[in-house]
Amino acid sequence: MSTQQKDVYLVIGGSGFVGRHIVDHLLARGDVVSVFDIVQRHHDVPFYAGDITDEQQVLNAIRKVSMFVGCIRLDGVNNRSCLQSGATCIIHTASPPHGAKDPSIYHKVNVDGTRAVIDAAVAAGVPKLVYTSSAGVAFDGSDVINLDERAPYPEKPFDAYNDSKAKGEALILEANGKGGLLTVALRPAGIFGPGDRQMMVGLYQAYQRGQTHFQVGNNNNLFDYTYVGNLAQAHLLAADKLVPPSDTKPVDPELRSSLGYAL
Ligand code: NAD
Repeated sequence: MSTQQKDVYLVIGGSGFVGRHIVDHLLARGDVVSVFDIVQRHHDVPFYAGDITDEQQVLNAIRKVSMFVGCIRLDGVNNRSCLQSGATCIIHTASPPHGAKDPSIYHKVNVDGTRAVIDAAVAAGVPKLVYTSSAGVAFDGSDVINLDERAPYPEKPFDAYNDSKAKGEALILEANGKGGLLTVALRPAGIFGPGDRQMMVGLYQAYQRGQTHFQVGNNNNLFDYTYVGNLAQAHLLAADKLVPPSDTKPVDPELRSSLGYAL
């Protein structure tokens, strides 16, 4: 019998700024969600303490996440309860913050740790993995205007953080289809909103240090910013759209040609 089931979410880095907003958005629409992180900052969802550089810790959390869900027969005749064991969608938003004193932490967490998350997801048969990347993966210090995801990563990365985010993103995209795992990466720019501990704090510290009289460039520089609520919603939409090709509608040929490139 064919059934429709809701995903069971594990938000890795769910104690952080973006991760918490993702958790809130999932809870608001009635989803079941747990958090995996090195620290616990919220106590309203199941929490699994661990470090993503340890594949076994990630795997244990993926397998422990479970819930009872109402399975709905597609003909709508019967509702019945069944046990969903194990996460079916991982949202991986963990990373050390930009500006760490020891830059080697970035490769360790964002590259080796992301590889461990992928390996754990494949080992546990998780169908979906959504990754928070960064707009910085395409930045080499020079102006980038109207760039999109078709552009290659820069030959000379801007810094160790952005380099590690690019390498982590590449691993995520290469893993698409591996053992049935579907993956997607999102690239937010400077994120603002309630709970931000980086951007506004940094701006305020510059203000307190009296560093407001510097001007970089001709005052026409542009920078992208992303509101955290929109970003959280984008993660949910991306997760919802991760379905095997056989379950998706063929792309309308008119839409394909209007976009100008292969979908
Ligand atoms: P944050 O520091 O608030 O949250 C990150 C979370 O990851 C923290 O709770 C931290 O404890 C956890 N974490 C770190 N290392 C871990 C590890 N080894 N194992 C398990 N958990 C670990 O950061 P944020 O601002 O919420 O950023 C979320 C994501 O968005 C990151 O991947 C970041 O690279 C990306 N991003 C952030 C910005 C921004 O402006 N904040 C911009 C672009 C992309």
